Amino acid sequence: MRRKIVAGNWKMNKNLSETTVLLEDLKKQEFKDEAVEVIVTPPFTNLSLAVTTLKDSKINVAAQNMHQNANGAFTGEISADMLKNTGVETVILGHSERRAYFGENDALLAEKVDTALKNNMEIIFCFGEELEDRKGGKHFEVVESQLKNGIFHVNDENWKHIVLAYEPVWAIGTGETASPEQAQEMHAFIRKTIKETFGENTAASVSILYGGSVKPANASEIFAKPDVDGGLIGGAALDAGNFSAIANSF
Ligand code: PEP
Repeated sequence: MRRKIVAGNWKMNKNLSETTVLLEDLKKQEFKDEAVEVIVTPPFTNLSLAVTTLKDSKINVAAQNMHQNANGAFTGEISADMLKNTGVETVILGHSERRAYFGENDALLAEKVDTALKNNMEIIFCFGEELEDRKGGKHFEVVESQLKNGIFHVNDENWKHIVLAYEPVWAIGTGETASPEQAQEMHAFIRKTIKETFGENTAASVSILYGGSVKPANASEIFAKPDVDGGLIGGAALDAGNFSAIANSF
């Protein structure tokens, strides 16, 4: 059975005091389905607090990014070892905001993927087309290329540590969601692409999350699609009630 996952991407939101409030609020929520994995990703400065606060809860903590090098003169960056030593075992890589605003391309992401795997970390690997790609009918081509150039160099064994997150850029933070049919169509394509290279078993066991303006009002319809295994949630993850409602939408 594939893992069902709801992960909240807090982005650059919530200072230490606000994080304390949101974490306490999250702890009070009822997450009804034991089988749904719940993850939050506060900014780097608040990861340690999140790990400590959520220690006895069902919520796991992940990071939003990581540097590809082990250590050294990379001012402002955070390594895999630093994350792991803080108790963080999972990292989001390739978020469209990292690609668009920080110049992260497929080659760099491939290096980050290798670093995460070398450090026995779990990866949530994000990708997705821009609006012009979709309008020009190039969305499948773009997604295939992001996958092939960013993560398809891994081996069969590595897939156990990888979760994919399809996030059409035009749906992120815009209030515009891909329709459940559009999400299903792309997720089925992603699974087919994995099957062609890595075989049926790997394709059937990789969890593929959808991200892009998921809210309590639209989550159940999207999560009901057979190839959608959960969501990466931005804005709605900043409210504990909304986030738990989404996690309870399967
Ligand atoms: C995201 O940032 O990964 C995201 C999906 O954001 P939002 O839910 O706000 O569209």
